[in-house]
Amino acid sequence: MPPTDQPRLVDRFGRIGRDLRVSVTDRCNLRCTYCMPAEGLAWMPKPEMLTDEELLRLVGVLVGLGIESVRLTGGEPLLRRSLVDLVAGIAGLRPRPRIAMTTNGVGLDKVAAALAEAGLDRVNVSLDTTDPEHFQRLTRRDRLDDVVRGLAAAAEAGLTPVKVNAVAMRGVNDVDAPELLQWCLDRGYELRFIEQMPLDAQHAWDRGLMVTQAELLQRLGERFTLTPVPSRGSAPAETFLVDGGPAIVGIIASVTAPFCAACDRVRLTADGQLRNCLFARREVDLRGPLRDGATDDELGQLMIEEMARKAAGHGIDGPRFVQPDRPMSAIGG
Ligand code: SAM
Ligand code: SF4
Repeated sequence: MPPTDQPRLVDRFGRIGRDLRVSVTDRCNLRCTYCMPAEGLAWMPKPEMLTDEELLRLVGVLVGLGIESVRLTGGEPLLRRSLVDLVAGIAGLRPRPRIAMTTNGVGLDKVAAALAEAGLDRVNVSLDTTDPEHFQRLTRRDRLDDVVRGLAAAAEAGLTPVKVNAVAMRGVNDVDAPELLQWCLDRGYELRFIEQMPLDAQHAWDRGLMVTQAELLQRLGERFTLTPVPSRGSAPAETFLVDGGPAIVGIIASVTAPFCAACDRVRLTADGQLRNCLFARREVDLRGPLRDGATDDELGQLMIEEMARKAAGHGIDGPRFVQPDRPMSAIGG
Protein backbone atom coordinates (compact mmCIF):
# COMPACT_ATOMS: atom_id res chain seq x y z
CA MET A 1 0.00 0.00 0.00
CA PRO A 2 1.67 3.27 -1.07
CA PRO A 3 2.27 5.93 1.61
CA THR A 4 -0.57 8.43 1.81
CA ASP A 5 -1.11 11.86 3.31
CA GLN A 6 -4.58 10.73 4.29
CA PRO A 7 -4.57 8.80 7.58
CA ARG A 8 -6.50 5.59 7.06
CA LEU A 9 -6.74 4.15 10.58
CA VAL A 10 -9.90 6.00 11.56
CA ASP A 11 -12.59 4.76 13.93
CA ARG A 12 -16.32 5.49 14.26
CA PHE A 13 -15.64 8.28 16.71
CA GLY A 14 -13.21 10.08 14.40
CA ARG A 15 -10.09 9.10 16.31
CA ILE A 16 -7.05 8.46 14.15
CA GLY A 17 -4.43 5.80 14.83
CA ARG A 18 -1.01 7.45 14.72
CA ASP A 19 0.92 5.75 17.53
CA LEU A 20 1.86 2.08 17.19
CA ARG A 21 3.00 -0.06 20.14
CA VAL A 22 4.86 -3.17 19.05
CA SER A 23 5.48 -5.98 21.50
CA VAL A 24 8.69 -7.62 20.31
CA THR A 25 8.65 -10.42 22.91
CA ASP A 26 6.44 -11.55 25.80
CA ARG A 27 9.44 -12.71 27.86
CA CYS A 28 10.82 -10.84 30.82
CA ASN A 29 13.69 -11.01 33.29
CA LEU A 30 11.80 -9.23 36.10
CA ARG A 31 8.60 -10.33 37.80
CA CYS A 32 6.84 -7.12 38.79
CA THR A 33 3.99 -8.08 41.12
CA TYR A 34 1.45 -5.90 39.22
CA CYS A 35 2.33 -7.66 35.95
CA MET A 36 3.37 -11.29 36.40
CA PRO A 37 3.30 -14.15 38.89
CA ALA A 38 6.59 -15.12 40.59
CA GLU A 39 7.00 -18.22 38.42
CA GLY A 40 6.65 -16.25 35.17
CA LEU A 41 4.30 -17.29 32.36
CA ALA A 42 4.21 -19.86 29.57
CA TRP A 43 6.17 -17.89 26.97
CA MET A 44 5.10 -17.75 23.34
CA PRO A 45 6.59 -20.57 21.26
CA LYS A 46 9.18 -19.22 18.79
CA PRO A 47 7.39 -20.39 15.59
CA GLU A 48 4.37 -18.33 16.63
CA MET A 49 6.42 -15.17 16.90
CA LEU A 50 6.87 -12.86 13.95
CA THR A 51 10.33 -12.92 12.43
CA ASP A 52 12.11 -9.58 12.02
CA GLU A 53 11.21 -9.55 8.36
CA GLU A 54 7.51 -10.21 9.08
CA LEU A 55 7.40 -7.63 11.82
CA LEU A 56 9.00 -4.99 9.62
CA ARG A 57 6.60 -5.71 6.82
CA LEU A 58 3.56 -5.20 9.09
CA VAL A 59 5.01 -2.04 10.62
CA GLY A 60 5.72 -0.78 7.10
CA VAL A 61 2.09 -1.31 6.07
CA LEU A 62 0.93 0.49 9.22
CA VAL A 63 3.27 3.41 8.51
CA GLY A 64 1.74 3.57 5.02
CA LEU A 65 -1.65 3.92 6.74
CA GLY A 66 -0.61 6.94 8.78
CA ILE A 67 1.34 5.64 11.80
CA GLU A 68 3.80 8.36 12.82
CA SER A 69 5.43 6.91 15.92
CA VAL A 70 6.44 3.39 16.88
CA ARG A 71 7.15 2.28 20.44
CA LEU A 72 8.91 -1.01 21.03
CA THR A 73 7.81 -2.81 24.17
CA GLY A 74 7.00 -6.23 25.57
CA GLY A 75 7.59 -8.22 27.81
CA GLU A 76 11.10 -6.90 27.98
CA PRO A 77 12.14 -5.63 24.51
CA LEU A 78 15.87 -5.84 25.32
CA LEU A 79 15.49 -9.64 25.44
CA ARG A 80 14.90 -9.74 21.68
CA ARG A 81 18.38 -10.39 20.35
CA SER A 82 17.79 -8.66 17.03
CA LEU A 83 16.49 -5.46 18.64
CA VAL A 84 19.17 -3.17 17.18
CA ASP A 85 18.50 -4.52 13.68
CA LEU A 86 14.77 -4.08 14.17
CA VAL A 87 15.26 -0.46 15.16
CA ALA A 88 17.44 0.11 12.10
CA GLY A 89 14.77 -1.54 9.92
CA ILE A 90 12.02 0.71 11.31
CA ALA A 91 14.25 3.79 10.93
CA GLY A 92 14.61 2.84 7.26
CA LEU A 93 10.85 3.03 6.62
CA ARG A 94 9.45 6.03 4.72
CA PRO A 95 8.03 8.26 5.98
CA ARG A 96 10.36 7.54 8.90
CA PRO A 97 8.36 7.18 12.11
CA ARG A 98 9.65 8.42 15.47
CA ILE A 99 10.95 5.43 17.41
CA ALA A 100 10.74 4.98 21.17
CA MET A 101 11.05 2.05 23.56
CA THR A 102 9.64 1.12 26.96
CA THR A 103 12.07 -1.05 28.90
CA ASN A 104 12.84 -2.16 32.42
CA GLY A 105 16.38 -0.93 31.77
CA VAL A 106 18.21 -4.14 32.74
CA GLY A 107 21.09 -4.44 30.25
CA LEU A 108 20.32 -1.10 28.62
CA ASP A 109 23.77 0.19 29.54
CA LYS A 110 25.29 -2.29 27.07
CA VAL A 111 23.12 -1.41 24.06
CA ALA A 112 21.95 2.18 24.53
CA ALA A 113 24.60 3.61 22.20
CA ALA A 114 23.98 0.98 19.50
CA LEU A 115 20.22 1.54 19.71
CA ALA A 116 20.66 5.31 19.38
CA GLU A 117 22.99 4.77 16.44
CA ALA A 118 20.41 2.49 14.78
CA GLY A 119 17.75 5.20 15.04
CA LEU A 120 16.05 4.88 18.42
CA ASP A 121 14.93 8.37 19.46
CA ARG A 122 13.80 8.02 23.09
CA VAL A 123 13.28 5.61 25.96
CA ASN A 124 10.96 5.20 28.90
CA VAL A 125 12.58 3.17 31.66
CA SER A 126 10.36 1.61 34.30
CA LEU A 127 11.55 2.24 37.83
CA ASP A 128 9.05 2.18 40.67
CA THR A 129 11.35 3.02 43.57
CA THR A 130 14.97 3.76 44.39
CA ASP A 131 14.74 1.86 47.67
CA PRO A 132 16.63 -1.42 47.10
CA GLU A 133 14.43 -3.46 49.41
CA HIS A 134 11.20 -2.11 47.93
CA PHE A 135 12.59 -2.65 44.42
CA GLN A 136 13.27 -6.29 45.26
CA ARG A 137 9.78 -6.76 46.70
CA LEU A 138 8.14 -5.22 43.63
CA THR A 139 10.17 -6.85 40.88
CA ARG A 140 11.17 -10.01 42.79
CA ARG A 141 14.69 -9.44 41.50
CA ASP A 142 17.79 -7.68 42.86
CA ARG A 143 18.48 -5.55 39.74
CA LEU A 144 18.13 -1.95 40.91
CA ASP A 145 21.76 -1.13 40.11
CA ASP A 146 21.36 -2.43 36.55
CA VAL A 147 18.34 -0.18 35.98
CA VAL A 148 20.16 2.85 37.38
CA ARG A 149 23.10 2.13 35.03
CA GLY A 150 20.71 1.66 32.12
CA LEU A 151 19.10 5.04 32.75
CA ALA A 152 22.47 6.81 32.88
CA ALA A 153 23.55 5.12 29.64
CA ALA A 154 20.31 6.16 27.91
CA ALA A 155 20.90 9.81 28.84
CA GLU A 156 24.53 9.52 27.77
CA ALA A 157 23.50 8.08 24.39
CA GLY A 158 21.12 11.00 23.80
CA LEU A 159 17.91 8.95 24.08
CA THR A 160 16.26 12.03 25.53
CA PRO A 161 14.11 13.16 27.14
CA VAL A 162 14.66 10.08 29.31
CA LYS A 163 11.36 9.28 30.95
CA VAL A 164 10.83 7.09 34.00
CA ASN A 165 7.59 5.11 34.38
CA ALA A 166 6.47 4.19 37.88
CA VAL A 167 3.52 2.25 39.26
CA ALA A 168 2.73 3.01 42.90
CA MET A 169 1.66 0.01 44.95
CA ARG A 170 -0.05 0.50 48.29
CA GLY A 171 2.06 -0.48 51.25
CA VAL A 172 5.16 -1.13 49.13
CA ASN A 173 6.46 1.91 47.24
CA ASP A 174 3.66 4.50 47.53
CA VAL A 175 5.65 6.09 50.35
CA ASP A 176 8.67 6.41 48.02
CA ALA A 177 6.92 8.63 45.44
CA PRO A 178 8.38 12.01 46.59
CA GLU A 179 11.87 10.53 46.91
CA LEU A 180 11.63 9.00 43.43
CA LEU A 181 10.57 12.36 42.02
CA GLN A 182 13.53 14.11 43.71
CA TRP A 183 15.89 11.39 42.40
CA CYS A 184 14.60 11.92 38.83
CA LEU A 185 14.75 15.72 39.11
CA ASP A 186 18.38 15.48 40.25
CA ARG A 187 19.27 13.53 37.11
CA GLY A 188 17.08 15.33 34.58
CA TYR A 189 14.72 12.37 34.03
CA GLU A 190 11.03 13.01 33.51
CA LEU A 191 8.93 10.95 35.92
CA ARG A 192 5.43 9.69 35.12
CA PHE A 193 3.29 7.61 37.45
CA ILE A 194 0.82 5.15 35.93
CA GLU A 195 -2.26 4.08 37.87
CA GLN A 196 -2.21 0.32 38.31
CA MET A 197 -4.51 -1.30 35.72
CA PRO A 198 -6.26 -4.69 35.70
CA LEU A 199 -3.83 -6.31 33.26
CA ASP A 200 -1.86 -8.65 35.53
CA ALA A 201 -1.73 -12.31 34.58
CA GLN A 202 -2.83 -13.32 38.10
CA HIS A 203 -6.01 -11.17 38.01
CA ALA A 204 -5.14 -9.80 41.44
CA TRP A 205 -5.96 -6.15 40.67
CA ASP A 206 -8.21 -4.61 43.28
CA ARG A 207 -9.81 -1.21 42.56
CA GLY A 208 -10.00 -0.50 46.29
CA LEU A 209 -6.26 -1.02 46.78
CA MET A 210 -5.14 0.93 43.72
CA VAL A 211 -3.21 4.14 44.43
CA THR A 212 -5.18 6.86 42.62
CA GLN A 213 -3.97 10.01 40.92
CA ALA A 214 -5.59 12.09 43.68
CA GLU A 215 -3.68 10.19 46.33
CA LEU A 216 -0.38 10.54 44.49
CA LEU A 217 -0.91 14.27 44.02
CA GLN A 218 -1.54 14.62 47.72
CA ARG A 219 1.57 12.64 48.61
CA LEU A 220 3.81 14.55 46.16
CA GLY A 221 2.18 17.81 47.26
CA GLU A 222 3.53 17.33 50.76
CA ARG A 223 7.04 17.93 49.40
CA PHE A 224 6.59 19.81 46.11
CA THR A 225 4.35 22.51 44.70
CA LEU A 226 2.59 21.06 41.65
CA THR A 227 0.87 23.27 39.09
CA PRO A 228 -1.21 21.63 36.32
CA VAL A 229 0.04 22.21 32.78
CA PRO A 230 -2.97 22.76 30.48
CA SER A 231 -3.50 21.01 27.12
CA ARG A 232 -3.28 17.26 27.36
CA GLY A 233 -4.03 16.48 23.67
CA SER A 234 -3.66 12.77 22.92
CA ALA A 235 -0.88 12.45 25.52
CA PRO A 236 -2.10 10.16 28.28
CA ALA A 237 -0.18 11.84 31.08
CA GLU A 238 -1.53 14.86 32.90
CA THR A 239 1.51 16.94 33.60
CA PHE A 240 2.37 19.23 36.46
CA LEU A 241 5.13 21.81 36.84
CA VAL A 242 7.27 20.94 39.85
CA ASP A 243 8.00 23.91 42.11
CA GLY A 244 7.17 26.35 39.30
CA GLY A 245 9.04 24.40 36.58
CA PRO A 246 10.61 23.93 34.18
CA ALA A 247 10.77 20.33 35.50
CA ILE A 248 7.52 18.39 35.20
CA VAL A 249 5.96 15.22 36.58
CA GLY A 250 3.22 13.27 34.82
CA ILE A 251 0.42 11.07 36.06
CA ILE A 252 -1.31 8.63 33.73
CA ALA A 253 -4.67 8.18 35.43
CA SER A 254 -5.84 5.39 33.13
CA VAL A 255 -8.45 4.26 35.65
CA THR A 256 -9.74 7.39 37.40
CA ALA A 257 -9.43 9.81 34.42
CA PRO A 258 -9.16 7.73 31.23
CA PHE A 259 -7.91 9.40 28.06
CA CYS A 260 -9.85 7.11 25.68
CA ALA A 261 -11.57 10.01 23.88
CA ALA A 262 -8.19 11.25 22.60
CA CYS A 263 -6.55 7.84 22.12
CA ASP A 264 -4.42 7.49 18.97
CA ARG A 265 -2.92 4.06 19.72
CA VAL A 266 -2.79 0.78 17.86
CA ARG A 267 -1.02 -2.36 19.10
CA LEU A 268 0.77 -5.21 17.40
CA THR A 269 1.65 -8.29 19.47
CA ALA A 270 4.80 -10.37 19.02
CA ASP A 271 2.71 -13.10 17.40
CA GLY A 272 1.20 -10.75 14.83
CA GLN A 273 -2.20 -9.87 16.29
CA LEU A 274 -3.46 -6.33 15.84
CA ARG A 275 -5.33 -4.78 18.79
CA ASN A 276 -7.22 -1.51 18.64
CA CYS A 277 -7.02 -1.07 22.45
CA LEU A 278 -4.97 -2.33 25.39
CA PHE A 279 -8.26 -3.60 26.83
CA ALA A 280 -9.76 -4.98 23.60
CA ARG A 281 -11.52 -8.31 24.03
CA ARG A 282 -10.69 -9.27 20.43
CA GLU A 283 -7.72 -8.97 18.12
CA VAL A 284 -7.27 -9.57 14.41
CA ASP A 285 -4.74 -12.12 13.18
CA LEU A 286 -2.27 -10.69 10.67
CA ARG A 287 0.35 -13.44 10.93
CA GLY A 288 -1.85 -16.10 9.28
CA PRO A 289 -2.71 -14.01 6.20
CA LEU A 290 0.90 -12.74 6.04
CA ARG A 291 2.29 -16.28 5.97
CA ASP A 292 -0.40 -17.31 3.48
CA GLY A 293 0.84 -14.71 1.01
CA ALA A 294 -1.51 -11.76 1.60
CA THR A 295 -0.57 -8.56 -0.25
CA ASP A 296 0.14 -5.29 1.58
CA ASP A 297 -3.27 -4.02 0.43
CA GLU A 298 -5.01 -7.06 1.92
CA LEU A 299 -3.13 -6.71 5.20
CA GLY A 300 -3.88 -2.98 5.25
CA GLN A 301 -7.58 -3.69 4.75
CA LEU A 302 -7.60 -5.97 7.82
CA MET A 303 -5.91 -3.22 9.84
CA ILE A 304 -8.35 -0.55 8.68
CA GLU A 305 -11.35 -2.76 9.53
CA GLU A 306 -10.03 -3.58 13.01
CA MET A 307 -9.37 0.06 13.81
CA ALA A 308 -12.90 0.99 12.71
CA ARG A 309 -14.20 -1.37 15.43
CA LYS A 310 -12.42 0.46 18.25
CA ALA A 311 -14.72 0.92 21.27
CA ALA A 312 -15.40 4.36 22.75
CA GLY A 313 -13.61 3.50 25.98
CA HIS A 314 -12.20 0.70 28.12
CA GLY A 315 -14.79 0.98 30.90
CA ILE A 316 -12.45 -0.24 33.66
CA ASP A 317 -14.48 1.63 36.21
CA GLY A 318 -17.81 0.30 34.89
CA PRO A 319 -19.76 -2.70 36.20
CA ARG A 320 -19.49 -4.69 32.95
CA PHE A 321 -15.70 -4.47 32.61
CA VAL A 322 -14.01 -7.77 31.69
CA GLN A 323 -10.21 -8.02 31.78
CA PRO A 324 -8.63 -9.02 28.43
CA ASP A 325 -7.50 -12.65 28.09
CA ARG A 326 -3.88 -11.71 27.55
CA PRO A 327 -1.85 -10.03 30.28
CA MET A 328 -0.02 -6.72 29.74
CA SER A 329 3.31 -8.50 29.17
CA ALA A 330 1.90 -10.36 26.13
CA ILE A 331 -0.11 -7.44 24.71
CA GLY A 332 2.71 -4.93 25.03
CA GLY A 333 2.46 -2.16 27.62
N1 SAM B 1 9.20 -4.62 30.46
C1 SAM B 1 9.14 -3.28 30.02
C2 SAM B 1 8.93 -2.33 31.19
O1 SAM B 1 8.61 -2.78 32.29
O2 SAM B 1 9.09 -1.13 30.96
C3 SAM B 1 8.06 -3.03 28.97
C4 SAM B 1 6.74 -3.71 29.16
S1 SAM B 1 5.82 -3.20 30.57
C5 SAM B 1 4.38 -4.21 30.40
C6 SAM B 1 5.35 -1.58 30.08
C7 SAM B 1 4.88 -0.66 31.18
O3 SAM B 1 3.68 -1.15 31.71
C8 SAM B 1 5.85 -0.54 32.35
O4 SAM B 1 6.10 0.83 32.60
C9 SAM B 1 5.11 -1.15 33.50
O5 SAM B 1 5.40 -0.52 34.72
C10 SAM B 1 3.67 -0.94 33.10
N2 SAM B 1 2.75 -1.90 33.69
C11 SAM B 1 2.84 -3.24 33.74
N3 SAM B 1 1.77 -3.78 34.36
C12 SAM B 1 0.97 -2.74 34.70
C13 SAM B 1 -0.30 -2.62 35.34
N4 SAM B 1 -0.94 -3.69 35.80
N5 SAM B 1 -0.82 -1.39 35.50
C14 SAM B 1 -0.16 -0.29 35.06
N6 SAM B 1 1.02 -0.33 34.43
C15 SAM B 1 1.59 -1.53 34.26
FE1 SF4 C 1 8.61 -7.41 33.04
FE2 SF4 C 1 7.87 -4.95 32.42
FE3 SF4 C 1 6.06 -6.75 33.34
FE4 SF4 C 1 7.89 -5.77 34.99
S1 SF4 C 1 6.28 -4.60 33.95
S2 SF4 C 1 7.33 -7.95 34.76
S3 SF4 C 1 9.63 -5.51 33.68
S4 SF4 C 1 7.13 -6.85 31.44
